[in-house]
Amino acid sequence: MSEETLQFRDPEQAEQLADRLEALMAEIDGSVNLMHVCGSHEQAIAKFGLRSMLPDGLSLRMGPGCPVCVTNMPEVDEAVAVAKQGAIVATYGDMFRVPGTTQSLADARADGARVEIVYSASEAVDLAEENPDEEVVFFATGFETTAAPTAAILVDDPPENFWVLSAHKYVPPAMEVVAEMPDTDIDGFLAAGHAATITGYGLFEPFVEEYEIPVVVGGFEPVDVMLGIERLLEYIREDTAGLENAYPRCVTREGNRAALETMWSVFEKTSGEWRGIAEIPGANLTLREEYADYDARERFDVEPETGGPDPLTEQCVCGDIMAGKADPDECDLFGEECTPGNPVGACMVSSEGTCKIWHEYGGHPDL
Ligand code: SF4
Ligand code: SF4
Repeated sequence: MSEETLQFRDPEQAEQLADRLEALMAEIDGSVNLMHVCGSHEQAIAKFGLRSMLPDGLSLRMGPGCPVCVTNMPEVDEAVAVAKQGAIVATYGDMFRVPGTTQSLADARADGARVEIVYSASEAVDLAEENPDEEVVFFATGFETTAAPTAAILVDDPPENFWVLSAHKYVPPAMEVVAEMPDTDIDGFLAAGHAATITGYGLFEPFVEEYEIPVVVGGFEPVDVMLGIERLLEYIREDTAGLENAYPRCVTREGNRAALETMWSVFEKTSGEWRGIAEIPGANLTLREEYADYDARERFDVEPETGGPDPLTEQCVCGDIMAGKADPDECDLFGEECTPGNPVGACMVSSEGTCKIWHEYGGHPDL
């Protein structure tokens, strides 16, 4: 591990920041709800037990920050339908076991469909090149960090037997929906540093102005997270909404312009359902008309067969967890019917899912 990384894991600094948070909360004199919007933040918070360092009255909620978790069931159903029509479906590992309405891609593979796990969009293209007589469909999920590489593949003339089934999502509109939810009542957002390396932190300026909620872009080491919280509390104490980049070693105001240009040349924003949260205008990334030849929805019959609702899935509260309204241990299925080995909802499948993270770190990571 590099010296720089170690410096951001320094317990002494983390303790000092914890004292500072305590002092700030005393000055604020009331409760504060902060939300982070990234599975990697939840991992850092749980792994390093950061919630136990927070002062009373300060709550740190998980938002819609896991791209696997927010992939809607009908999108999984579409991928399953494509696999059943004989195409090879290439997908990121975390998507493999996410339940659709009746089946996951893992179930489809068990039934004989060809589903391959890939680590990047370019590996999916390699698969198409290695199998010229097969049709290969990349089930493309994730936020800006993965949408930009998917776009780069499409502008680079992929083989003719390659299609994309886009379930890519765009985070800022989801933050707006959460900011408007009356029962969530968020006082500040810790925005995802990884996504901001692509989009730049300037992306949040209109949000801060419109919703008058402070946003701080934060990194993923314990000191980064504590620092991000400190900055948010400072804004809240001053009763101002500001935007700050607390991850300057990776994030700039403009982001990666070339990646963004490529992404917007391939995708357009459309309205779409985020699993369990809401129909969110402008939060799905759909292939533009110019790329219809690579659009799996044009090539395949993606109208999935759906079965009756599974009573267990009905009890799953993933939507409430991702909207910051519930914690995993408030779900009756947590650790009982729903475990990482036998997940009921997407939050227990993905390594960035709150339920899986909480399960991994002992059920309740405050302890
Ligand atoms: S893709 Fe990156 S920024 Fe987005 S949730 Fe995952 S780790 Fe966070
Ligand atoms: S514990 Fe399982 S069923 Fe409950 S919310 Fe989490 S993923 Fe869904």
